[in-house]
Amino acid sequence: VRDHHGQPLYFLRIVEDVTERKRLEIELRDLATTDMLTGLPNRRAFIARLEDEHERLRRFESQQAAVLILDLDYFKSINDTHGHPGGDAMLRHVAEVIRDEIRAIDMSSRLGGEEFAVLLTGATLTAAREFAERLRRKIAALTVMHEGKTITVTASIGVAALRATDENADTALRFADKALYRAKDLGRDRVEVLVAGAM
Ligand code: GH3
Ligand code: MG
Ligand code: MG
Repeated sequence: VRDHHGQPLYFLRIVEDVTERKRLEIELRDLATTDMLTGLPNRRAFIARLEDEHERLRRFESQQAAVLILDLDYFKSINDTHGHPGGDAMLRHVAEVIRDEIRAIDMSSRLGGEEFAVLLTGATLTAAREFAERLRRKIAALTVMHEGKTITVTASIGVAALRATDENADTALRFADKALYRAKDLGRDRVEVLVAGAM
């Protein structure tokens, strides 16, 4: 700002506080990528991460990764017996078990309903099977107290490799899903691994 002779008087600076806008941006992003019941990343976030991982595998061909899809067994009967809130409590506890089991570099997700997924970065199929087996046992051992009653559940898990040669990231999910259906067919509460070429 200058006086009427054109001499500078002082400087004016406009400062905008963007703290609130940034906070809102982060909140919106979290809402769009998080499953509200369990706090796990949602399907959208999982697929995005899977695509990143697939891209990474294509660039560094020697690396590997595996995908698990987990579906709770006879979950409908838990809702029927204990009510929807009882089922919800179980979903939250299962999410907690999954979160406890994975390493920081892995990613888990509630894909929807009573279906969860895990991406194991750098894992061979053998390592992924062992992980899935441990997860299956932990879930079977879980007891949830709800309105004075104990709820238990089992899970079926399908495992498949995420491969650089797959056309897209979705392929591994479809294969894991196939393995999951085999686990259901074979009696549930079990892990099935889909080995490529043996479909
Ligand atoms: P299966 O062993 O074949 O998987 O049997 P299932 O009963 O688990 O399978 P089905 O797909 O028939 O039922 C899934 C049930 O999960 C039905 C639905 O009411 C319940 N469900 C889906 N989302 C939620 C949720 O957010 N909360 C609760 N409490 N139940 C849910
Ligand atoms: Mg089910
Ligand atoms: Mg299901």
